[in-house]
Amino acid sequence: MKRRQLLMKGGGLVLLLTARDIAFGATIVAVRVWPAEDYTRVTIESDALLAARHFVTGSPQRLVIDVEGLELSPELRELVGKVKSDDPYIQGVRVGQNLPRVVRLVFDLKQAIAPQVFTLEPVAAYQHRLVFDLHPVRERDPLLALIQEKAAADRAAEAATPSDRAASDVNDALGEFIGRMGQPRPPAPAAPPAGPAAPPPMASASVPERGIRATERLIVVALDPGHGGEDPGAVGPTGLKEKDVVLQVAQRLRERINALPRMRAMMTRDADFFVPLHERVRKARRVQADLFISIHADAFLNPNARGASVFALSQSGASSAAARWMAQKENAADLVGGVNVKVKDASVTRALLDMSTTAQIKDSLKLGSEVLSHIGKVGRLHKAQVEQAGFAVLKAPDIPSILVETAFISNPGEEAKLRSAEYQEELVNALVSGITRYFAKNPPLARNRAL
Ligand SMILES: [Zn+2]
Repeated sequence: MKRRQLLMKGGGLVLLLTARDIAFGATIVAVRVWPAEDYTRVTIESDALLAARHFVTGSPQRLVIDVEGLELSPELRELVGKVKSDDPYIQGVRVGQNLPRVVRLVFDLKQAIAPQVFTLEPVAAYQHRLVFDLHPVRERDPLLALIQEKAAADRAAEAATPSDRAASDVNDALGEFIGRMGQPRPPAPAAPPAGPAAPPPMASASVPERGIRATERLIVVALDPGHGGEDPGAVGPTGLKEKDVVLQVAQRLRERINALPRMRAMMTRDADFFVPLHERVRKARRVQADLFISIHADAFLNPNARGASVFALSQSGASSAAARWMAQKENAADLVGGVNVKVKDASVTRALLDMSTTAQIKDSLKLGSEVLSHIGKVGRLHKAQVEQAGFAVLKAPDIPSILVETAFISNPGEEAKLRSAEYQEELVNALVSGITRYFAKNPPLARNRAL
């Protein structure tokens, strides 16, 4: 009891553990740092459960973490060298034995953070993990980021070929985006000042006609490279990691989509860090994506398994035992990647995502068929139909969503293909064809739904 009070007094208590629960003399197995714009994660892996308390100081900005039951070890000292100079959050880290059996880590910060400190049970190849997630105090607005990217790209294009037409397209795109953010559109060109007798301006007068025509609005495609960070996904016979190859494919696909008129890709991750499954869906919904495409390259027990498959959500059981197995495997990503289950927002989002709709699945199947038929032209298909199962990442109730297993990374031949730029380009061509074909047959509607 005394111990608890002592910890409570520290203010930054994370784990309420009695002395008995904490293994003294834990050995550090590894320390890892995953820097990203979204958040930077630091993981300390050990052979026994570690307890930590933390506090943040304002000036200078620091995160101080005391890890109990630990002696300073060479593995812990390695942490100092693992922080990269371009880490968005961490300036540097110092490690020292603060008290006997208490190691203190001091992170000098580049900006104010809202830290999450939590532990993960042993899973997959990992032993106990103590995790520090350094989130920004204020979350970056993804829609704003997309607008800024789009505007910058259009400015660059305009500089290359100056024309009034290009400028007007940019304004329309921005007007559309701003309209979707629930904020006023840019004002119409200034009208002469109204005299006392003039009629009051109509509300619709400030909405440019072109901006609300369905076919002229910007189409947003959410690209979701699976896994990342602590979660490598499947690993091929020569060591190629699913998380790396799907990021490469998604980056290539983004380039192609962004080059298409009035289309923009949003990536759920653009670096090697883990994004929880519900967070991937939330990111797509925050930009009101028109499509969600999750990209994977998985493994099967049988190394001869090969070919691509496309999956959609199912409301009533899986379409095959293999589809169910694949969904269970993908849904386990959160356990391996590491999610702080105590975050309240996350559970709210998860509850919301259980409201999947029949309409979404119908559109997802249409999209899946288009993609599948084009992938079938560049490579072998594992299954000729779109399969269905309860994939957590496909649960946006209002966004057609598919999961593409590009190939089996466990198959030596397919691992080699996945590694090659040529095959990645062929895959991307097939995906772009499938996506554009889907939009040709199912033109996106004017955007008037509420989030
Ligand atoms: Zn996967």
